Amino acid sequence: MNQHADRAAAAGAGPATGAAAAEGIGDGTRAVRAGLPEPVKNEPPLPGPVFAAHFHLPGDVEGPYTYGRDTNPTWTLLERAIGELEAPGQEGVHTVVFASGMAAVSAVLLSQTRTGDTVVLPDDGYQALPLVREQLEAYGIHVRTAPTAGDAQLAVLDEARLLWIETPSNPGLDVCDIPRLAEAAHAGGTLVAVDNTLATPLGQRPLELGADFSVASGTKGLTGHGDLLLGYVACRDPELAASVRRWRKIIGAIPGPMEAWLAHRSLATIQLRAQRQWANALAVAEALADRTDVTGLRYPGLPADPSHKTAARQMRGFGSVVSFTLPDRAHAERFMAALRLVEDATSFGGVRSTAERRGRWGGDPVPEGFIRLSAGVEDTDDLVADVLRALDAAVAGA
Ligand SMILES: *Cc1c(COP(=O)(O)O)cnc(C)c1O
Repeated sequence: MNQHADRAAAAGAGPATGAAAAEGIGDGTRAVRAGLPEPVKNEPPLPGPVFAAHFHLPGDVEGPYTYGRDTNPTWTLLERAIGELEAPGQEGVHTVVFASGMAAVSAVLLSQTRTGDTVVLPDDGYQALPLVREQLEAYGIHVRTAPTAGDAQLAVLDEARLLWIETPSNPGLDVCDIPRLAEAAHAGGTLVAVDNTLATPLGQRPLELGADFSVASGTKGLTGHGDLLLGYVACRDPELAASVRRWRKIIGAIPGPMEAWLAHRSLATIQLRAQRQWANALAVAEALADRTDVTGLRYPGLPADPSHKTAARQMRGFGSVVSFTLPDRAHAERFMAALRLVEDATSFGGVRSTAERRGRWGGDPVPEGFIRLSAGVEDTDDLVADVLRALDAAVAGA
């Protein structure tokens, strides 16, 4: 471990060795084996992608594989792998993979609600949620929103069918107390879904914290190479799982076998990637904390961050994303242009560090100089030096 990784471990972002030991194996060991079939002589450890629109089906309709929109053996292995990461050592976790994170998000929201139901969303979540809200309302579903911070969604839960939580929220990095919200929601008969995209299952396990659904975009840190789109829903209740699977069959938002296979291959390194990303994000955040040109710095792993106390209780690692604000738009653009190791791109959770001036999209209520930076797996000292050099260049260029 380098010194930054050591400090990350001290700050609580290290492997949760106690919990891992109780489950028998550590996260890294689990990741390299997740979802693999029993070894078969002369067969590869991870079978290749199965490309099939239909399967041989003589006689009665039986067996697991019939038509490619229903099921596919490559999804089966990937679903098993993700389930093992979301709820290690537990039987009966059902995972359903989708073509993208939004396909998974929509599958839960639209399969679990009917006209007249009420859904509670965060008002500071992923930028497509307002579009989902419009669609829900067009179907006669009532939508209430409240901020993630301060567990403010507690105040608007009354009679709701479904509570949607995003923690840490993207891009503001506020955190809410999942067990507290889940307990209050369940007391009123409200289902709870957590968007676990930013944390990844290595950083947070919503099902263990009381959620009914853990939903995520696998496009980000789960697969981590920025080369595919994927989504998934994990849950314990077989009936809820069946309704989500039925929705996938109706809507047809299925991942291709190649994407599913690439995703499974990528999972083997998730523990290595996550550890380095978390250590890098913390090191960047610590370096930014000393700068007078930076305001509004947010990283749940920083002990002084408003999210830290709650995050430390429920997260196993604090994620790859750091957000902060530079004095104005021009200053932020000079910073972005001066970066050499950090690519100017949207998305996050990849092996190569990325950043963007979030305000260029419109939609997120963020200042013009707001930057969302996702730490990759570069050497920590190189990444921190590049960020500091670009900050100095942005000041000098004013
Ligand atoms: C990216 C993202 C999504 C949507 O995922 P896609 O794979 O792009 O469809 C949903 N939630 C959060 C928090 C995200 O960051």
